[in-house]
Amino acid sequence: MTDTIFTKIINREIPADIVYEDELCLAFKDVNPQAPVHLLIIPKQPIATINDIEAPDRELVGHLFLTAGKIAKDMGFDEEGYRVVMNCNEAAGQTVFHIHLHLLAGKPLGWPPY
Ligand code: 5GP
Repeated sequence: MTDTIFTKIINREIPADIVYEDELCLAFKDVNPQAPVHLLIIPKQPIATINDIEAPDRELVGHLFLTAGKIAKDMGFDEEGYRVVMNCNEAAGQTVFHIHLHLLAGKPLGWPPY
């Protein structure tokens, strides 16, 4: 896949407000937040969409969710609640084709999300 803006963030070629990093993933504040807390959790390995996730990626994708839960808990949202969502392709709102979890918290979140 071609590089996206998220590869530039991983490589520190453009700035981002990074809140967490380990060998597999990076979490940073969304530049256009939709909630008081809006973080993006991305794998360092670029995968374009959910459709491109393959069986060997299961540990990596699981790690993204474990990381989202850990960050939410560290921020004190585990009791109050929060939302973790991944959009797939344009009709679902995906604009950056490097998979990412949105972690949204800090206000009541409506459902369904449209
Ligand atoms: P998507 O629409 O693909 O599900 O989510 C992409 C998200 O990336 C959007 O919420 C958008 O605001 C965010 N975003 C796009 N470009 C940048 C950027 O350069 N920096 C940061 N921090 N977030 C970005």
